Amino acid sequence: MAIDATQPYDDENIFAKILRDEIPNKTVYEDEHALAFHDINPQAPHHILVIPKGRYVSWDDFSANGSDGEIAGFVRAVGHVAREAGMVEPGYRLLANIGKDGHQEVPHLHVHIFAGKPLGPMLMRG
Ligand code: 5GP
Repeated sequence: MAIDATQPYDDENIFAKILRDEIPNKTVYEDEHALAFHDINPQAPHHILVIPKGRYVSWDDFSANGSDGEIAGFVRAVGHVAREAGMVEPGYRLLANIGKDGHQEVPHLHVHIFAGKPLGPMLMRG
């Protein structure tokens, strides 16, 4: 079910549990600001999620309330993960779903990285 991007942070969300090591994940990369791991239900041959370590519900929350260091660290981590995975050539797609119409399901900011085949048009039509 899609969430409201303006809701307060819920410490029991699934990615908060992953950050606390209460739920296993297949980690790709971790640093001070970010954790990257394989999506449990991949929608492309390569489907990685990158999340900030801080308690941010959505891109809206993070871009408004994240510190400059957290934002720079997170953006650099996303780029680093894609680069290290060899995705820059032939290319990849970033996606961040925000709120109900954006179909965000997990209320902790995450950026999807998709790669591994031609990904087609940007959005499903209709
Ligand atoms: P959203 O629709 O919120 O942008 O995407 C949430 C993503 O989280 C989905 O692609 C879903 O497959 C993934 N996901 C949900 N629960 C888990 C989990 O427990 N572990 C991992 N690795 N991914 C999850």
